[in-house]
Amino acid sequence: MLPEQRKTVCPYCGVGCGLVATTDGKRVLKLVGDPEHPANLGRLCLKGALAAQTLVAPSRLRHALVRGADGSLVPTTPEEAVGEIATRLGRILAEHGPSAVAVYLSGQLTTEAQYLGNKLGKGFLRTNHVDSNSRLCMASAAAGMTLSLGADGPPLTFADIEEADAFVFIGSNAADCHPVAFDRVQRRMKTSGARAIVVDPRRTKTAAQGTMHLAVRPGTDIALLNGWLRLCVEMGAIDEAFIAAHTEGWDELRGMLDEYEPARVAAICGISEGEIRASAEIIAKTERLISFWTMGVNQTTLGTFTTNTIINLHLATGRIGKPGAGPFSLTGQPNAMGGRDMGYMSHGLPGQRKVLDEAHRAEVEALWGLPAGSIGEAPGHDAVAMFEAMERGEIRAIWIIGTNPAASMPNLPVVRRGLERAELVIVQDAFYPTETTRFAHVVLPGALNLEQEGTFTNSDRTISLLERVAEPPGDARPDWQWVRDVARAMGFGASFDFDAAGDIFREMAMMTRGRPNDQTGVDYEILRAEGPQRWPHPHAGAPRALHEGHVFATPSGKAQFFARPYVPPEEQPDARYPLVLTTGRVEAHWHTRTKTGTVERLNRIDPAPYLAMNPEDARELGLAEGARVLVKSRRGEAKTVVRVTRDIGPGVVFMPMHWNDLWEVGASVNEVTTSETDPLSKEPALKRCAVSVERLG
Ligand code: SF4
Repeated sequence: MLPEQRKTVCPYCGVGCGLVATTDGKRVLKLVGDPEHPANLGRLCLKGALAAQTLVAPSRLRHALVRGADGSLVPTTPEEAVGEIATRLGRILAEHGPSAVAVYLSGQLTTEAQYLGNKLGKGFLRTNHVDSNSRLCMASAAAGMTLSLGADGPPLTFADIEEADAFVFIGSNAADCHPVAFDRVQRRMKTSGARAIVVDPRRTKTAAQGTMHLAVRPGTDIALLNGWLRLCVEMGAIDEAFIAAHTEGWDELRGMLDEYEPARVAAICGISEGEIRASAEIIAKTERLISFWTMGVNQTTLGTFTTNTIINLHLATGRIGKPGAGPFSLTGQPNAMGGRDMGYMSHGLPGQRKVLDEAHRAEVEALWGLPAGSIGEAPGHDAVAMFEAMERGEIRAIWIIGTNPAASMPNLPVVRRGLERAELVIVQDAFYPTETTRFAHVVLPGALNLEQEGTFTNSDRTISLLERVAEPPGDARPDWQWVRDVARAMGFGASFDFDAAGDIFREMAMMTRGRPNDQTGVDYEILRAEGPQRWPHPHAGAPRALHEGHVFATPSGKAQFFARPYVPPEEQPDARYPLVLTTGRVEAHWHTRTKTGTVERLNRIDPAPYLAMNPEDARELGLAEGARVLVKSRRGEAKTVVRVTRDIGPGVVFMPMHWNDLWEVGASVNEVTTSETDPLSKEPALKRCAVSVERLG
């Protein structure tokens, strides 16, 4: 085939940058940013620009594997692997019932694969134990936006950056984690004098480039946000007309704000009263304000409350639903939004429906052609509870698709015990080995997103078509095809009669009709001809924008204020564990490095794991740069190396999340993180726990 150009999307963060690949049908010859894609307008960060290198990594999995009699994983044919899974899953279902089976999905899969995995699990295997790694990532933002605004999705787009005059980054190191979005912010700052307030315990790259850095104590954002809103009231920045016309619950919130006088907020957050007043003044005086947040907020026990509180600030000041203004959650994965649209967490159903809602269950059963009452009434286990149930022997089989929980889950000792105890662990991944394949009984080779057709929906609700720009290696195939084939082998073929990803998309779009995330009218032909489309997609009678005319998708049509108090996290430092550990990403790597760890240039930029520590703490512990240490918590211990830096304050230490057992056994930060979760979203508090640090050896 002569080289031609096809469009696809970056496999990493939720900015969802469009790519143009020059391909000969088998290989990517050149990869550049798509100048026509609305998220990136042609720009790419280094990770995205080098994405094609992951396709040819030596660690690509080419064939299915099954565990043989001698305990080792041996290659097998796709047919035998599918048959083995269908037989063993069928046996466990027959002997122990649907609640013994779980499916664990990923925000890196195409929406078509996420949808099909959820359909098979909740509709046909009849287990609601279908969750995804969005539980570790966006669950709090999703829960908070749904409660406050009635729909799970930010009400603005990346193009609003060019209209804004001020930005808040709270719990977001966008310069490293969402570089193209941050590049747009920086250009706006340079060209228009827009300012950026960065709230982060660390002096990250984002903080260093902001107008103002507030180095709060981990987990105290909510106190700062309540304090800011109180000062906005004092400065007369409240939009009384907007509150009266479009919201409910202001009076209760207004009453609670009395408790958040600047002196108290300063004491909770560990910053000065002057910093709080100066930042509040920017917020109060800037009409066009965007607040970005991500894991620093979501991965805490107050993640949902903090999301509500960010939205409170925008509702009370009327800074929402206008150009350059609004709350903007940045998605960690390329297609977490698509999965959330299709209900791929244990409480969800397609079309942003809920398992708990009887009418929603009935609608989905009818659309899937299932008898009434087929879908269980109770939400299944969230990710943390799923592995705990496995440890107790309640869940006996799990199918893990496109994610690496034996490295990414908090409190890894529990996860490992669960996976060791399970009778059937199916791992579907594009790479081998991973920390999770070690526990697998069957391993299925998945295609990467550049090797298949499908769709991704990015942080700002933009649906993009992925065209196949390379051939998958060996027997690797798109994830949705493995799900379809197992469904067929189990006798559900009539409901999984899909020959192409576009057929699945048509069914998915139908599931969203009349829902806040309405995608009716979108199909592959439109995506190919007209480019990316955003939901809600305008068609006859449908709104032209999310919350159009300030009509929110709540039962009353009004946005909801929530009075959310600051509550100190349960796990506090003490004499035995005197330091607070926070976690995060580095510039060059992504998640558990299955992809980025295969790219030499990225490994040169960020070559190894470390523990960042303030010089004061290092001195007190007698540790110098490069010292080997054990980081200990109430759950386990992790080995690493000290990096002494003033970018982090005394009493707080930082470890990146990317390096795990394949790097060095015991190197994962998740050996020590807590499985304490946000009570509403069930997102684990990966961002904060109490630890001690001691010299190793
Ligand atoms: Fe990919 Fe995100 Fe970089 Fe864009 S900003 S190229 S989506 S990693």
